[in-house]
Amino acid sequence: MRTPLVVGNWKLHLGLKDAQSLARALVQGIEPDLPCEVGVAPVFTVLQAVASVLEGSPIALCAQDLHWVDKGPYTGAVGAPFLVELGCRYVIVGHSERRQHFGENDRIVRLKVEAALRGGLAPIACVGESLTERERGEAFVVVRRQVEAIVEGLDGVERLVIAYEPVWAIGTGKVAEPQDAQAMHAAIREIVARHAGQSIANAMRILYGGSVKPENAPGLLREPDIDGALVGGASLDARSFLAIIHAVRP
Ligand code: PEP
Repeated sequence: MRTPLVVGNWKLHLGLKDAQSLARALVQGIEPDLPCEVGVAPVFTVLQAVASVLEGSPIALCAQDLHWVDKGPYTGAVGAPFLVELGCRYVIVGHSERRQHFGENDRIVRLKVEAALRGGLAPIACVGESLTERERGEAFVVVRRQVEAIVEGLDGVERLVIAYEPVWAIGTGKVAEPQDAQAMHAAIREIVARHAGQSIANAMRILYGGSVKPENAPGLLREPDIDGALVGGASLDARSFLAIIHAVRP
């Protein structure tokens, strides 16, 4: 019913040559007739170069961020129309590194989600609790607040993808237990159902992110409400990323 989605977030890694050679390796190594969608999110400066490698392949070009205004006097910013022009299909919004290092809050994340949808991009909106919040037993409350800020009254909500990324699992090698991730994904789907209706919630892809590796991917992806993965570190290595992609079963 839902087509799984696996996205590699290359973060601030891989300049022109490395990005193109990783993209080439993925295009060559990807199995035909995949039961999922695949995307990669390179640094802005190499989007066009990677797009030319991906052309004709089933791998979608994604951006790591966007500005909430389309164009204008915003030095250093990149608006949705500029990403669409390069062939981007998805854009990551509200990644915990943006929330932590760039001061993005729920309001900004919401504006960015709206900008993405307005521009014709599918936003992959990230939510997730910190270690302290989890230890205080606040994980579900925090994630509910973040999800509600994104979905309440949102036009185009049917094109939204949510990524549950517990902050304590990102880049740490600590992965959520499949059943814990499943419980959060089911809770997120319920929140979406309350605000956007059951059929939209049933169709929405909810990805897990946080130290996904070839070894733990099959267990996570087997859970009924985990519809794919947002992968950081392991997406920088073609063999690892391909193994995660090929762990998706129809
Ligand atoms: C991420 O940055 O979205 C991420 C999940 O990173 P990692 O896979 O390295 O934990």
